[in-house]
Amino acid sequence: MIERVRPSRYKNDRPVELVCTLQDVTERIVDQSNKHQSDLVLEAAIENVPGGFLLVSEDGYIERFNRKFFDLYPKQQFFINEGVPLSRFLQFGIDMDVYLEAKDNPEEWLQLRLERLDAGNIEFIDRLADGRSIQVALRRLPNGSQVGMHVDVTELQQARDAAEKANEAKSEFLASMSHELRTPMHGILSFTELGLKRLDTLSQEKLQQYLENIQLSGTRLLYLLNDLLDLSKLEAGKMSLDMRSVKISDLVKTCIAEQDLRLREKGLRCELDVVSTESSCSCDRNRILQVITNIVANAIKFSPEGGEIRIRLECRDAKVRMRVSDQGTGIPETELDDVFDKFYQSLGTRNQTGGTGLGLAICREIVDLHRGRIWAENNPERGASILFEIPLRLSTPRLV
Ligand code: ADP
Repeated sequence: MIERVRPSRYKNDRPVELVCTLQDVTERIVDQSNKHQSDLVLEAAIENVPGGFLLVSEDGYIERFNRKFFDLYPKQQFFINEGVPLSRFLQFGIDMDVYLEAKDNPEEWLQLRLERLDAGNIEFIDRLADGRSIQVALRRLPNGSQVGMHVDVTELQQARDAAEKANEAKSEFLASMSHELRTPMHGILSFTELGLKRLDTLSQEKLQQYLENIQLSGTRLLYLLNDLLDLSKLEAGKMSLDMRSVKISDLVKTCIAEQDLRLREKGLRCELDVVSTESSCSCDRNRILQVITNIVANAIKFSPEGGEIRIRLECRDAKVRMRVSDQGTGIPETELDDVFDKFYQSLGTRNQTGGTGLGLAICREIVDLHRGRIWAENNPERGASILFEIPLRLSTPRLV
């Protein structure tokens, strides 16, 4: 109740009668308290939305923001205040190198951002220089203000980027694979067709030549399929390691003995140099032999006639390292990493040797499984070296 008292009659300038009124103001007081209450609720709601909240007036001034918005932009906090123009906040961000996409053309970027304020409802991702990705969703309100939600989606974006990359790699792989499979298959079919058509007239020599071509293409197809099968098993994590205690030098000797004919055909010398006292290594014998064989076979393939291949074995820091050096053409510096990619054949050696381009990719997977590493270098004189190292003891193989 509001009580009001006022004089209604005076005598000699002194009040002799008073009027008293009482007013019931319950409703007004309840309204005020409700408004205060709903302001508090709104405040709490803005603070608790799952992201940074920013309200910008129609003429571009920051009107309201929450703590999460403040925390999202630590370098610009000085400019996060009611009454500050949004353009100043953004400009300061540009000056502090916050926005990755603003780097090339800051003026154009700022203009675009301010135009987005007028554009009404819009969503986009801000890539920040510190690696974060912030998703911004802007909505226009009936009074012309704009409300924005800023959410850190870095992890999501990274997962999306990785998925996109994997998808691209898969398409590339499928394209190369169908090409690689089709070429020998085409060879088999066309020589078979040719042979059948000319069966009556073909000389014995020609027939033999056709059959040899078919055999060559068939063998290539088989190699390719074996490699593909190996690779898909490795990539799917379905290849388990059969860990044994092995002397790597024994594996190298086995490999050299197996390659003896090819070495002799090219008149190559192959030297094995065991640098330090060798301890036995725990690894999957057949898989590591596969790695050694692939590397040595490449060295033979790319060596000039009469050249020398040096194999150096070294045990150090609980690891065994093998280096295979040849005197061939070497690998272009820019391709030293690429040769471990699937189907990659260096421009310098392509069409020369008839490999599948999968060998080193398989080696990398096997060495990875053993928690080791494999890489390529060029020798100072000439030729390339392929090196790999694996731990002597593997306590936790990547997949077993
Ligand atoms: P492939 O030998 O079947 O083509 P790899 O995956 O074993 O497939 O090798 C990929 C590519 O790496 C080869 O085609 C070749 O271009 C390059 N390369 C590998 N080893 C050597 C080497 N010792 N010297 C020069 N180039 C090499």
